[in-house]
Amino acid sequence: MDSEQLREYGHRMVNFIADYYKTIETFPVLSQVQPGYLHNLLPDSAPEQPETLEQVLDDVKEKILPGVTHWQSPSFFAYYPANSSVAGFLGEMLSAALNIVGFSWVSSPAATELEMIVLDWFAKLLNLPEQFLSRGNGGGVIQGTASEAILVVMIAARDKVLRSLGKKALEKLVVYSSDQTHSSLQKACQLAGIHLENCRVLKTDSSTNYALRPESLQEAVSKDLEAGLIPFFLCGTVGTTSSTAVDPLAALGKMAKSNEMWFHVDAAYAGSACICPEYRQYIDGVETADSFNMNAHKWFLTNFDCSLLWVKDRYALTEALSTNPEFLKNKASQANLVVDYKDWQIPLGRRFRSLKLWMVLRLYGAETLKSYIRNHIKLAKDLQQLVSQDPNFEVVTPRIFSLVCFRIAAVDNDDEKTCNNLNRSLLDAVNSSGKLFISHTSLSGKFVLRLAIGAPLTEEKHVMDAWKVIQEEASFLLASQVK
Ligand code: PLP
Repeated sequence: MDSEQLREYGHRMVNFIADYYKTIETFPVLSQVQPGYLHNLLPDSAPEQPETLEQVLDDVKEKILPGVTHWQSPSFFAYYPANSSVAGFLGEMLSAALNIVGFSWVSSPAATELEMIVLDWFAKLLNLPEQFLSRGNGGGVIQGTASEAILVVMIAARDKVLRSLGKKALEKLVVYSSDQTHSSLQKACQLAGIHLENCRVLKTDSSTNYALRPESLQEAVSKDLEAGLIPFFLCGTVGTTSSTAVDPLAALGKMAKSNEMWFHVDAAYAGSACICPEYRQYIDGVETADSFNMNAHKWFLTNFDCSLLWVKDRYALTEALSTNPEFLKNKASQANLVVDYKDWQIPLGRRFRSLKLWMVLRLYGAETLKSYIRNHIKLAKDLQQLVSQDPNFEVVTPRIFSLVCFRIAAVDNDDEKTCNNLNRSLLDAVNSSGKLFISHTSLSGKFVLRLAIGAPLTEEKHVMDAWKVIQEEASFLLASQVK
């Protein structure tokens, strides 16, 4: 590492990035390239001789940026957001600079200790129960994604049961969730060796706004117990991916406890909102959970990846995931004086990710972060009102956080299929305009449009402009349908 070259190139790169952000609104939000576009633009093999930074940055401008979907655009409203910020970016830079691999405490003590401290800070912001803090048997850890979080806790829960009942019990283990639970649960089941026929995907509907009904869970558990199966894992969600449904944590947790199931709460998107006292109610009941997860990289100004997982029993994780090879042995670990995060996750290696979250918390402070969340929710509220005032549209599920689920409403003689096709066409038309990017889902057989507000640069005017484009494209489609 030549520090003078770093200084020079680093300044140029920061300028390049700052210019990107300054001009981000000039790009189509959703990349408009065709599959394989880059093959024709780049050489078949790596260069033999060094090239200049200018040459590379020119290629980024001409060849890479056209194939980028601009998640940081203020008109990015698809999926859920993936926030970047100056603080998050600086934290990433520092992490890249130190470039440590903090698998064990001894491999870089500050990495482990800062992660423990920052996750305790965050747990306090969320008002999580004491048992999730690191001073007892619990604690927090940064995973790459919510999918990794759910996998590691499922493995911990599985092994806890198998240690007491024997390995043969594996084929009897049953997992419960709703039909709105993220697909990462299914992947975790596949990876943890849970028989797919033992995954109960409980039906939800509009009567509970797609939240899991405790009665459905009770019924399924009773049936499984009668059949000699072993209920062992329940996943509740606060803010489902399709529509931000909120499962009733307290009631579900009570049932999990009485049936000795591990209760995991997935608040990947909505967890951020729960630092605001007025939204904390949505995780009421979290005291009944064994594990709780939220993605700071979604809606908390922390650059990807930074998924926060808290557990009440860290030993459930370490008993399932520990390894102790000779080459990693050291005095601090052998004496049980430290946390070795390698035993709380799938990989060995891990980045110094707590730096960026620490910087976000310090450079912005909790009050600013709360205002940030509240502003997005207010914008979503305003949009919801506009949608409900337009006779061409309907709001499909009540908005809770910053996601609005809506569609062109069916008119009397439209069947569901026609209406779905119309909304599909609207989605395509809006996204191919390049002016904004929204996504879709399906609820009770209805094709639904999702507009999630949460990009850091989004202001009221971007939401209003987006709504205008949607209305115009819809009017055009409806008019051509009449002909
Ligand atoms: N859970 C919920 C509720 C989500 O919305 C998502 C993604 O949007 C996930 C889990 C999966 O997230 P990740 O990409 O971090 O695995």
